[in-house]
Amino acid sequence: MGAVKPENGNDPPFWEQPLDQLSDAEWEALCDGCGQCCTHKLEDADTGEIYPTDVSCRLLDTCTARCMDYPNRKRHVPDCLQLTRETAGTLPWLPDSCAYRLRAHGKPLPEWHYLVCGDREAVKRAGVSVAGRVISEDEAGPIEEHALIEGFTLVQTPDEDEDEDE
Ligand code: SF4
Ligand code: SF4
Repeated sequence: MGAVKPENGNDPPFWEQPLDQLSDAEWEALCDGCGQCCTHKLEDADTGEIYPTDVSCRLLDTCTARCMDYPNRKRHVPDCLQLTRETAGTLPWLPDSCAYRLRAHGKPLPEWHYLVCGDREAVKRAGVSVAGRVISEDEAGPIEEHALIEGFTLVQTPDEDEDEDE
């Protein structure tokens, strides 16, 4: 794996450079940690429409939205998809905010991205992170009950609903 190259005064930072020019370390660093790609999606068999759910992969820490064993994730979750420089711009289920999707289309990172603002918590304040807003697939029950029909508007987990009813 390569390293994040030191900034050269005249070069744009790596997150403004084409994806195919990034080292592996720079590629990994591009992720904003939102966790949206670690939630399950449902596809309408008739229309092909994709609906997000608030159900996460069992390896996602639902409090932090980080994978609990990223280096060994394939051992736990064999179908965890590896984003590549070739596929980043073509996957319809990636959120519009995904740094890989944005950069694959030549768009800038948003101001809340930690590489831009220097604050890894900004993704949460921007409402983009799934931290604390999803339920693990091990606890969720039937996934059909967790479809989020109006785009990526995260709904409260059942536990939170129960708390409110009390
Ligand atoms: S959606 Fe994109 S930016 Fe967000 S965690 Fe997944 S790969 Fe990273
Ligand atoms: S294995 Fe890790 S990176 Fe892959 S979907 Fe699950 S939580 Fe996300």
